[in-house]
Amino acid sequence: MEYDVIIVGAATTGAVAAKKIAEKGFKVLLLEAKPKSRIGDKACGDAIGEEDLKKAGVNLPKEVIRERILGADLLSPDKKTVFRIKGYGYTVDRLGLGKVLVEEAESVGAKFMDNFHVDSLLLNDGVVRGVKGKDEIHSRVVLDASGNKTRLRGLLPDEWGIEKVIEKKDAVAAYRVIIDNLNPPLESGYLKIFFDQTRSPGGYIWAFPEGKLSNVGLGVTMVGKYPNPKLATHEWIKNVYTGTILTGSGDTVPTRRPFGNMVGNGIALAGDAAATVNPVTGGGIGSGMLSAKLVSESITQALQNVDAPKIDDLWSYNVVYMKTYGIKQAALDVFRRFLIRLNDDDINFGMSSGIMDEKTVTDAAITGQVKINLRKEAEIVLKGLKRPSMLLKIKQMADDVKTAMQIYSDYPSSFREYPEWNKRAEDFFNNLPY
Ligand SMILES: Cc1cc2nc3c(=O)[nH]c(=O)nc-3n(C[C@H](O)[C@H](O)[C@H](O)COP(=O)(O)OP(=O)(O)OC[C@H]3O[C@@H](n4cnc5c(N)ncnc54)[C@H](O)[C@@H]3O)c2cc1C
Repeated sequence: MEYDVIIVGAATTGAVAAKKIAEKGFKVLLLEAKPKSRIGDKACGDAIGEEDLKKAGVNLPKEVIRERILGADLLSPDKKTVFRIKGYGYTVDRLGLGKVLVEEAESVGAKFMDNFHVDSLLLNDGVVRGVKGKDEIHSRVVLDASGNKTRLRGLLPDEWGIEKVIEKKDAVAAYRVIIDNLNPPLESGYLKIFFDQTRSPGGYIWAFPEGKLSNVGLGVTMVGKYPNPKLATHEWIKNVYTGTILTGSGDTVPTRRPFGNMVGNGIALAGDAAATVNPVTGGGIGSGMLSAKLVSESITQALQNVDAPKIDDLWSYNVVYMKTYGIKQAALDVFRRFLIRLNDDDINFGMSSGIMDEKTVTDAAITGQVKINLRKEAEIVLKGLKRPSMLLKIKQMADDVKTAMQIYSDYPSSFREYPEWNKRAEDFFNNLPY
């Protein structure tokens, strides 16, 4: 074989995986469709959580940090309630980050090739043995890190049970602009998140400080009739801020539970290509890097044991991912579907009444678990402020979160048991409303 591992896509997920596999002494080829200078050129809020980086074992290069983040302010639609949530992280120079991560992979021996679009996979006797673009290149394993719009997983045999399509209702269309001289300026160190179910239904509007610059945008869940995120972003900014818009771009993000299976014979998927994004925040850089770490451990282990790793040899990636991050993602997918169905009045009520408070939101963000403030609920009922349908919806959602977490904590230890588990997971999630 020409390479031990070919990685398709050299963005944050692919480059991190390339470094982790190459530094263990394996022969890695990192392929990227774009020219090297444009790899990190991506529509993004540019925010990364410190905890996510730690879990992924990634040291953020100092030169790409634009601002140290200490927390986030969440504003209710009527702006009367503001939750200040603590949480450390960074906003980054995304273009610079893309470049540095590839260089780090190259520095430990990974070979990098840009302007190489992978068109298809080399599948022989039911095993992926390489990729095909302008050339055919062979490897023992292929890692698909080619993002949300990947077409590669569509080429895989159905019997591996790897999902091929992300439904529109499980994705967010988002747009952002970079603004110089934002006025009024953002408070340094704090991300600002505005809930507004009219302008950003099923998503949110953000304004993130990036040193001298600001990153402002919004996301909308693609359910039913939804606004154009680019027009909605510009329209919203006009009413709130002034400043010089330097650049703008948009993209879609998968915001669902992870794929039930992320491995096949000779192939694994990571990052957006495997839907590893946080369903509520839409943050996928850190979780993509975590998936890169876990898949790298599984691939290198498998390569030490067998010549051509198959599903069973790579299965440990699924097991570890589901039990660490997948379980939280599944819980947050339930929470996301609950949030989508709320209107602005519901959110104003939920935030101002104390049913949802800073602690509920922080716990949900950290663990995925949603615990209702029952003391507050009793107080609200006594004050005659009750909104029975809202309270019932919250209770149902909290129960559904528990069920989702139970399903993911029962994730099977082998591919043989997967169809039964997957049926249980699908039966549950397919019956949850949007
Ligand atoms: C507007 C917006 C704002 C966001 N804000 C944030 C945020 O603030 N924080 C956060 O954590 N996440 C955010 N996200 C999500 C985040 O950007 C993604 O989850 C993350 O970039 C996924 O990284 P990835 O490496 O898995 O995939 P990608 O970044 O999509 O990279 C895939 C790479 O593969 C290459 N490629 C694709 N197909 C091929 C092929 N056939 N052959 C060769 N190469 C190929 C692509 O060119 C690309 O470089 C945001 C997303 C959007 C759209």
